[in-house]
Amino acid sequence: MSNIKYKFLELSQVDAPYRQEITDAVKRVIDSGYYIGGTEVEAFEDELGKYLEQFDGERVVAVSNGLDALRLILRGYIEMGQLHEGDEVIVPANTYVASVLAITDCRLRPVFVEPSLETYNLDTSLIEQAITPRTRAIMPVHLYGRTCWDATLCRQFGMLIIEDNAQAIGAYSHKGGIHGGHLTGTLGDAGAFSFYPTKNIGAMGDAGAVFTHDKELAAVIRAMRNYGSDRRYHNIYRGLNCRCDAIQAAILRVKLRYLDDINTRRTIAARAYDEAINNKHIIKPLGRQPGVDDDYLHVYHQYVVRIAEDSELLRDQFRQYLLKNGVETDVHYAVPPHRQPCYVSEYGHLSLPITERLARTVVSLPIANITRDQAREIAHIINLWHPYIW
Ligand SMILES: *Cc1c(COP(=O)(O)O)cnc(C)c1O
Repeated sequence: MSNIKYKFLELSQVDAPYRQEITDAVKRVIDSGYYIGGTEVEAFEDELGKYLEQFDGERVVAVSNGLDALRLILRGYIEMGQLHEGDEVIVPANTYVASVLAITDCRLRPVFVEPSLETYNLDTSLIEQAITPRTRAIMPVHLYGRTCWDATLCRQFGMLIIEDNAQAIGAYSHKGGIHGGHLTGTLGDAGAFSFYPTKNIGAMGDAGAVFTHDKELAAVIRAMRNYGSDRRYHNIYRGLNCRCDAIQAAILRVKLRYLDDINTRRTIAARAYDEAINNKHIIKPLGRQPGVDDDYLHVYHQYVVRIAEDSELLRDQFRQYLLKNGVETDVHYAVPPHRQPCYVSEYGHLSLPITERLARTVVSLPIANITRDQAREIAHIINLWHPYIW
C-alpha cells in the first residue's frame, strides 16, 4: 500500500506511448539473429548524427554506456598522443561521479571547479585560475539538462573540450560551439551521451554514444570499442569491449524520433513549476530569461529546486513533508565526487563550499511524466510548506 500520488519516476509509464513500436523493433532484431553491432547500430549512429545536425553517422560511435563513452574519448586522445598520463582535466565539482571516474580510470587528474549557485553548472569565470601548465582538457557537464557553455571562453583556452552530455540530449546553445555545432554534445571537440533508462531517452538496458568532430578520433574509438581491432582479428590498440547491443539500438531508434516531444513535455511541466511555485524558502532553477529564445537551453533531465536556508535537516524535512503529501522526490546528488569514499583520501580536503551547499540543499521534483496540471498541484503543496524551526 502506497499513498504516493506522484511517483518520482515510473519508467513503464514513460515508455507506454512507444510500447508497440518498441516491441516491433525488438522483434525485428530477434528475427534477424544479429545481436551486437550490425545494421541496427549503424542505422542508429546515422540517425543520431542527423539529429545532431551533423549530416551522417560517421562521427557517431554507439557504445555500451555513458561512462564508457567518456572513457573511450579520453583513451582515444591518449592513443592519438593528445593526452598523457597525469594530465589535468577540469571538471565541475558537482557532477555525477561518472564524469570523474572516466578521468581517473584513464590515469588523468581531475581538477574540480565550483559551479555557479544560479545555474548549478560550471562557473566559467573560475576556469582561468584552475589552469596549470599540465591542464589539457575541460569537461563541461550539462547538469540536469541545462546547457553549460561559453563558447568564446572555451575557445580562448585552446584546449580539448569534452562534453559530458549524459543529461542534456536535445539541448541547444544559441551561441554555437567551437566547431559550429549548436546542440549539446557537438559544441566541443567530443561529447559523451548516455542512454541509461532514466535519461531523457533511455534504452531498456545500458547504452551510450560518442559524437566527435574529429574523424580520426571517431575511427580510433570505433576500433577501441571492439577490442582495439580495425578489422577482424587485427588489434591495433589494446582495446576494450564497449559495444552497443542491436536490441538497444533498435529501441533507441524508436525513441530518438520522439526526443523533441519528450523534451517539450518536460519543458511544459518545468514552466508550470516555474510559474506556480511561490514559497520564499524554495529557490527555483534558473528558468527562462526575458528576451532570449531559450526554449531548448534546458531540457530538464531534472527539475531541481533548493532550500533557501543552508540546512540539510530542513531539506530532509521538506522531502518528508512532500512525501507525506504524496509527492516522491530525489536528491541529485547528496554526496559530491570529492567526498565519495573512493576519492576522499585524495580530494576530501578540497574546499568546495558551493558544491557542498548544493549537496545539502537540492531536491529534484518529479518531471519525467508530469502534466502541467499535476505540476500545478505539486506546486500548491510546496507553497503550503513552512519550515519547522527548532
Ligand atoms: C548517467 C551519467 C553518466 C553515465 O552514464 P551511464 O550510461 O550510466 O554510464 C555520466 N555522466 C553524467 C552526468 C550522468 O548523468
